[in-house]
Amino acid sequence: MNRRTFLRQSALGLVALTTARTAQAAPILRFDDPEFHAVVDPAARVTTLYDGGRWCEGPCYAPRLGGLVFSDVRANRMMLIGGDGTVRPFRDPSDNANGNTLDGQGRLVTCEHRGRRVVRAEADGTLTVLADRYEGKPLNSPNDTALAPDGAIWFTDPIFGISMPEEGIVRTPEQAARRVYRIDPDGTLTGMSDALDQPNGLAFSPDGRLLYVSDTGGSLNPEGARSVSVFPVEKGRSLGAPRPFATVETGVPDGLAVDAEGRVYAACGDGVRVFRPDGRLLGRIATAQEAANVTFGGPDGRRLFIASGPALMAIDLKVRGSGRA
Ligand code: MG
Repeated sequence: MNRRTFLRQSALGLVALTTARTAQAAPILRFDDPEFHAVVDPAARVTTLYDGGRWCEGPCYAPRLGGLVFSDVRANRMMLIGGDGTVRPFRDPSDNANGNTLDGQGRLVTCEHRGRRVVRAEADGTLTVLADRYEGKPLNSPNDTALAPDGAIWFTDPIFGISMPEEGIVRTPEQAARRVYRIDPDGTLTGMSDALDQPNGLAFSPDGRLLYVSDTGGSLNPEGARSVSVFPVEKGRSLGAPRPFATVETGVPDGLAVDAEGRVYAACGDGVRVFRPDGRLLGRIATAQEAANVTFGGPDGRRLFIASGPALMAIDLKVRGSGRA
């Protein structure tokens, strides 16, 4: 850049803008354990794919739908980032959609705060309701969902979508608990656990024998949970008693993902924390604003997509996802 160009761009504020973007692209990886080097190259960069959202959530890599689908919960719409990087509305309005996953046949399954239901998108674009009531009463506000190895769809049902006016419609909960639910491939809905205060993100281990669930009670109550619990899954159809897996001091762990070797990725207030299967913290992919959710995808399954406030970001890792989040 010559001096005249510099002065002109400086007057327009473009130089400062360029500098800020360069700074954002700097590595923001924290290595707490040498094993984190097996997960991510220290030179890896976080790329911002989109930063025009209000509260991005529910990233779901769906090449058959055209790319990466995600929810902008507070803007009440879903968006799609195409393979060429273009971003366009996908479902607008979305009933304050939040978590997404693909079912065993590749159909998009979505949790809706406003609709207080879990829906599946059919090939013709119509939505089939998979769950909206339990024991005759409306669900709270389904938050996040994951596919089990047996084809069942699991989801969590905390109260955020009926307690935060910007994320749904404020209502008095009619369910006595905030449960983890399972939708059998035959459509049967079963409450699997009411052990957590505000169950939120969930992900299965690669063999399907463990279910990780975050508890975000701490975002409603300062003394509430800020933790991830792990449940043994028995024959795919019942959960054993949960045990503590990880706790954070500030913020809450929200969305979860698991890689092919069983490591757990938790979207937290200070970025994505990565844990060994035994719960040891390996490191962190820091984000400027709190991370809400995380998923694996990309052509070879090694790209980690991160929803963080107004942004959807990506970083290429050395490991691939388990394909179950
Ligand atoms: Mg969530």
